[in-house]
Amino acid sequence: TAKCEGRNTFKFYSPGMNATALERLTLETQLRLALAKNQFVLNYQPQIDLPSGRIVGVEALIRWNHPEFGPVPPDRFIPLLEETNLILPVGAWALRTGCRQLREWHRLGLYPLRLAVNISVRQYRLDHLVPLLDTIIGETQVDPSCLELEITESIMIENLEATLQIFEALHARRIRISIDDFGTGYSSLSYLQRLPIDALKIDRSFIQNIHTSASDMKITKAIISLAHSLGIKVIAEGIENAQHLGFLKDARCEEGQGYFIMKAMPAPSLTDRLLRRLPDRTGIHDSER
Ligand code: C2E
Ligand code: MG
Ligand code: MG
Ligand code: MG
Repeated sequence: TAKCEGRNTFKFYSPGMNATALERLTLETQLRLALAKNQFVLNYQPQIDLPSGRIVGVEALIRWNHPEFGPVPPDRFIPLLEETNLILPVGAWALRTGCRQLREWHRLGLYPLRLAVNISVRQYRLDHLVPLLDTIIGETQVDPSCLELEITESIMIENLEATLQIFEALHARRIRISIDDFGTGYSSLSYLQRLPIDALKIDRSFIQNIHTSASDMKITKAIISLAHSLGIKVIAEGIENAQHLGFLKDARCEEGQGYFIMKAMPAPSLTDRLLRRLPDRTGIHDSER
């Protein structure tokens, strides 16, 4: 429920919450203003190559810096952005902002650092997404092979016809594709070999229970071996402790991200970190655990 409950009438929308029309109107107005007033920010969570510990990519994660309530997590406002179609301008803002930042990192010598951006179901249309990407790539001159789009397994499966076209268009532009929250939807696994997919991201719900649930451990191993047999890389999300990290390294998972490695952080802090990069460490700092 709303973090501000009791303080005033403003409530954040969350799935399952039955907001009144007035509350939603207020929130929608605030979201519109948030875009106009530049209150959205992207934080970036590093993704490391597990064997070497080197940072190879970052995932852009949106935050709403609310003037009164501080940073609001995306689960609180993305559903309403989707319902109101505001996700289209906000999603375009996220892509453009992320690509500009990536270009800047490349200029600072951090090539070929990769940027992953999450794509919402409303953005998932050939006639919207592809021209938008062409425009942004043209504007920023970012190397498209360093750009990765994260599409959730459920979006991919529920829009299979669009998926075929969109994935081919992305592939033709050398933009990478990763399947987010993999294992939580109901994939027809045969699609994995027919589509140009670069990575599967194992959902953190599996990683969380790797050491307590034999079935989650087996599912994680099975996803990794399935991916590898199809020539697809695996990225684990939600690595929260040394055990998670150790298990995934042993299981030959290529890449990972999570609080144990680093939390998402604003671009300037990450830039400092990246420029001080030491080739041989995981970037783990006590202050961030
Ligand atoms: P996601 O794409 O699966 O992103 C991973 C989420 O897990 C992020 O939450 C991240 O901060 C969190 N996380 C990372 N490491 C750990 C960990 O070790 N433990 C735990 N418990 N959590 C971890 P966040 O930033 O709150 O984002 C939530 C979701 O919102 C994302 O899930 C993504 O689906 C969506 N999202 C975020 N930014 C955007 C965006 O720009 N556009 C769209 N369409 N969706 C976005
Ligand atoms: Mg993601
Ligand atoms: Mg994910
Ligand atoms: Mg997830």
